[in-house]
Formats: sequence, C-alpha cells, structure tokens
Amino acid sequence: MTRFLTRPGLALGLGLLAASSLGPDALAGGKQASQPDILVVLWDTTRPDHLSPYGYERDTTPFLDDLMADGHRFDNVIAGGPWTLPSMASMFTGLYVHNHGVSSGIANESPMAIPPDRTTFAELLSGAGYRTVLVAGQWLHLKHGGFDRGWDIIHKGGMADPNTGHARMDDLTIQEIKAAPSDEPLLMMVHTLDPHSPYQPHPTHDLWRDDALSEVYIGTKDNGQFDNFIVVNEANQGTRTISDDEMQFLVNAYDGELHQNDARLRKIWETWKAERGDDAIVIVTADHGEAFGEHGDNVIFHERPYDVILRIPLLMRGPGIPNGSTDLTVSNIDILPTLADLAGVQAPEVNGRSLVPVMSGEDTEPSVVAGFSQWAQAPAFFRTDDVKWIDYRVGASNVLYLLGKDPGESDNLASTMETLFQNVQASFEKFLEDHAIEAAPVESKTLNDDELQALRALGYVE
Ligand SMILES: [Zn+2]
Repeated sequence: MTRFLTRPGLALGLGLLAASSLGPDALAGGKQASQPDILVVLWDTTRPDHLSPYGYERDTTPFLDDLMADGHRFDNVIAGGPWTLPSMASMFTGLYVHNHGVSSGIANESPMAIPPDRTTFAELLSGAGYRTVLVAGQWLHLKHGGFDRGWDIIHKGGMADPNTGHARMDDLTIQEIKAAPSDEPLLMMVHTLDPHSPYQPHPTHDLWRDDALSEVYIGTKDNGQFDNFIVVNEANQGTRTISDDEMQFLVNAYDGELHQNDARLRKIWETWKAERGDDAIVIVTADHGEAFGEHGDNVIFHERPYDVILRIPLLMRGPGIPNGSTDLTVSNIDILPTLADLAGVQAPEVNGRSLVPVMSGEDTEPSVVAGFSQWAQAPAFFRTDDVKWIDYRVGASNVLYLLGKDPGESDNLASTMETLFQNVQASFEKFLEDHAIEAAPVESKTLNDDELQALRALGYVE
C-alpha cells in the first residue's frame, strides 16, 4: 500500500484517506457533490509576462483571458526548479527538490525519478475515486519513474513534427473527454511541449513573424536538423552570439506558439463544456519560464534559476475559487495541497500549502523556494522575496541579488557582499534542514501463520 507522509494522528494509507474524507458513498462509486472535475493544463516553458491575462502587450492568449475572466490569477509564482523534471516533480508531489530528490544536483547520482514513498496528486485523487487521464505531449518526464503513477490512462506524445503531433494529442484529449463516464469525477492533465524550443508555430499562429528579421531556431544538438540553428549550449557558453534581430525573431516565434496553445485550449474546453458542463476546476500553469538574453551568462533557454525562468503563470477557475488576483509569492509545490483541498481529500504532509486560504487573504506568508538543479554546473539556489542566492559549486560565478531593490537581477553582489553571501548560504542550509520531510518508516505488521507460509512458498521468508 502506498505510504503517506502524515502528521501524527492523521489517517495512514490511500484507502483510509479516501474513506475518511469522502464517506462510504464515494467508495461505492458515483460522483460526489464534493468532487469537482479537474482539468490541469501545463504549458511547458511559459513565461507569465508573455500571456494576455498578465497584461502582455501582444494578445497571445485571448481565450485564456476569457476562460479566466471569473477566475483567480497568481502574480508571483515560483517553480520548485528551473527546468522540467525538478519543477514537475515539485508540482506532482508538493515537495521541495531536496525532499523529492529529482535533480538533486549530485551529478550522475540523482535518480531523476519520484521515489516510491512520495505521493503524487494523481495517486491522491485516484485513491479518492477520480478517473485519471494524462495526455503528455512532453515525453521527458515519462521516461523517468514516478510521474506515471496514479493515472488510469496515459497518452504519450513525441517531439516529432509539431503540427501533426499537436493534432494527434488534441484528438486523443477530446476522445478521452468524450469517453469519460459522466457519473465519475474526472482528473485530466494535458501537458503540451510548446512553447518549448525550437519555436515553430503553425503559420496560422505565427502572427508576429517579421520576414525582415533573420530566421533562426534554437535547440539542443539532437534537434540540429535546421541550417540556421543555434545550439543552446553554444549560445549559453558564449561561443555563438545572438544578434538583436535573431533574438527578436525567436521571441516572435515563441509568442506564436503561445497563440497556438491558446487555440488548442479553446478546442479542448469547448468539448469539455459540451460533454461535462462548465463547473470544472481548471488550472493553467507551466513548469518553468524561458530566458531571452536578460542575463549575459545565460543567453537563452532554461537552465539556471534566474527569475525569468523560475517565474511561472498560475490561473485557476471553478467551484471554490474566488474571482480576483493574488500578489503574495506562492509556488507550484502548492498545487497538490490546493487540489486536495478543493476536492475534499486529505493531503499527505508536504512542503506546499493550500492556496484556498491564500486566495481569501487568510494566509499571508510568502513562499520561499530552495533547491538544486542538475544542469548548469549543479547550482544550489535559494529565493525569498528579498534575496536570490545561487551557488554554482563549479564553473560559473556565484550570484547574490537583492530582489527588493533589483527585481530584474542585474546587479550581482556575490563578490562585493561576501559576508551576506555566506549568511544566506547558512540560511539556505538551515531552511533545507527545517523543511526536510522524511519518508515514513515502513509499518511492521505481524503476519499470521497462513501469510507466513504463503510468503515462504514464494521465497520471501525462510
Ligand atoms: Zn519544461
């Protein structure tokens, strides 16, 4: 049985939790009034400041704007990690990197998989009676363990042709919405790889393309099928400079991909509304943002824990979610406890907190995020509203920004304020210690003679 990391006195185990929080009717099947449908939309690599609801000058996501008109917008959301795997593991488990261990920063030793003793939100809601469907256009996390736990159905996309790939994933999503029984609560997560590089919107969404600019794409070496391709590593190590024209071309294409995602979401939501009504909880978020040359030493892409990368959008609508916006700094580690709260399910012990009291103004404590990243010389990072600290361990220069005065992270004080750097380092280490969540010890159980004999026959005991 899946073990929960519980506070003393709380129920243990999935079955017990589901039973205690939902009552016997839920176990007998059938949708409860307290179990709203939930649609989680994760757009890879999406910066909030490039989305219409966040006031971007380009109308990249008009449908998202409409969908969330009665919803709630979080203006300061910090991802648990600066790239897909650690951030998604934080979102799935409600834990900081040092507790879920994905991308621990210890080169070649990080398991890159969610350990079996951590619970994902899919497992939690599946245990509470939800039908769970994952449509994953981003394959990376599914190569590693744990992300696939708790889903009844998984459809896995690829990085192949972005246009036919999209159509296939959208068809599968629509097919699953139609196939879901109406008397069962549905949790569906749709993860689109876009706007991850290479940015290649379909021509109908490439609205900001300017043919006067130099056509160029970015990506990793594996994707170097284009003549005019900038390899991420070359750019970030400074062996390939990017001209202003090229950077503008990239930003324009990136925005086109957001416009494309918006149209895809409209299509999905229209089907959902027709099939299941419009009273679902919808959450739209991202795993991380993207850099476009804001920092000299990190020209493009997403690796290092700068704010352009750690900042993600988070918009929610549906029953129990008040209309408005929240300034308070929150994190994607809050998504699991928020979903549990909205669905009336007891959450396991996690680092995140429910955002329901945050939205009502009851909880006013800003989130602090700390962790490690396997990439970019395995940095350790720590971020409060006041300070950003990055210890690169090897290679790049360490970083200290005073975010209150320098939100754009342009004035690195690591070498001029050495004592402060060391003090923040001590705070980082204390923070990790104070927020460690140990796995619950496996409960010992006395076996009866029949059980012992059965185990002996299978070779498990002597
Ligand atoms: Zn990603």
